[in-house]
Amino acid sequence: MQPSAPRILIIGQGLAGTALAWRLWERRVPFVIVDRDEPLTSSKVAAGLITPITGMRLTVSWRYATFYREALRFYRACGKRLGQRFFFPRGYVRLLKDDKEIAKWEKRRRDPDMQPFLHRQPPPLNAGVIHQPDHGFQQRHAAWLDTTAYLEASRRFFESLNAWTAADVQPADVSDDADGITWSDQRFSHVIWAQGWRGARHPLFDWVPFQSALGTILTVRADLQGEKRILNRGCWLLPRGDGTLRAGSTYEWTFNDPNTPSAAPVQGLEATLRTLLRVPAEVLATQTAVRPIIKNRQALMGTHPTHPHVAFLNGLGSKGSLRAPWLARHLVEHLLEGAALDPELDLQQNQI
Ligand SMILES: Cc1cc2nc3c(=O)[nH]c(=O)nc-3n(C[C@H](O)[C@H](O)[C@H](O)COP(=O)(O)OP(=O)(O)OC[C@H]3O[C@@H](n4cnc5c(N)ncnc54)[C@H](O)[C@@H]3O)c2cc1C
Repeated sequence: MQPSAPRILIIGQGLAGTALAWRLWERRVPFVIVDRDEPLTSSKVAAGLITPITGMRLTVSWRYATFYREALRFYRACGKRLGQRFFFPRGYVRLLKDDKEIAKWEKRRRDPDMQPFLHRQPPPLNAGVIHQPDHGFQQRHAAWLDTTAYLEASRRFFESLNAWTAADVQPADVSDDADGITWSDQRFSHVIWAQGWRGARHPLFDWVPFQSALGTILTVRADLQGEKRILNRGCWLLPRGDGTLRAGSTYEWTFNDPNTPSAAPVQGLEATLRTLLRVPAEVLATQTAVRPIIKNRQALMGTHPTHPHVAFLNGLGSKGSLRAPWLARHLVEHLLEGAALDPELDLQQNQI
């Protein structure tokens, strides 16, 4: 019953599972990836923004340079293999919302770790399109990933290898013994659960402190008169080059249904969008899904403390596009070569 060589079962084809599958494919390690095939998931809904300076605190995102370098290489290589482009470097203009934020930025902008990410002389924004376009800064090394195109093209490729299956895999369907894993009469060396927010319900990982958040993105029609940069003041706005843009996103910490938002946060997002845009904006659609967040952690990965063939990668939060390529490589090196896991990301060292 022992698998003669590594063969990995991946549960979930979101950004985490897809990057894991590619990392195994690069090493010629056989895998099967199984997904529930839901129409709306975090990875399918995500805007795919990759941004160095984020949040209210205006700081450089955790290990940004390392993750960005790896993401750039990874998505370009996937695009080449699949004959399709889905990774787009873009300028990102952060507009400051009030005097307090302007004062904070005056201090922050001198930090040495900011310097590689600041555009020195960005072209001005069109005041006919954007309200109050003057106080802000443009970031370099930002990008967006067309997650839908990347996930679909990857799926077609994995299907062509007979390595993709649609199924809702329950924890009880997967058994482990001293030598490996059995699922659906097949043997594997490991299973990696990369289920996103649904991972909170897995009995082997129910001690992981998930604190996932529902998020909504609007699809909007507006004429930005050729502006291609990503803009942000209170909400972000991603022009897609076809007369539509995406705007987001909300955070709801309690929810009943993973694809149904509450009215108030969506109305708040629409109102913020109208404080940013001077031109008419028509909301065409809303999309909602749940970001998998683990409390006070950037992500967690590794094997279960007492089930060494059962592994986990989850908690990519709102940075899945940026971090999945690095995280997936790190976990694969751990499982296949015994490389030590980064202590901040190691599931076993972060047990609550
Ligand atoms: C509104 C919104 C905006 C976002 N914006 C951005 C952004 O701009 N930039 C960015 O980087 N990130 C963004 N994110 C976050 C990003 O989407 C997540 O970090 C990422 O999607 C997490 O990927 P994942 O693979 O861990 O989880 P998921 O995308 O949830 O994937 C898990 C997959 O596993 C499947 N699955 C679950 N249980 C089972 C089972 N039992 N059997 C089989 N399959 C199963 C699910 O169907 C799903 O396909 C956003 C998220 C939301 C919701």
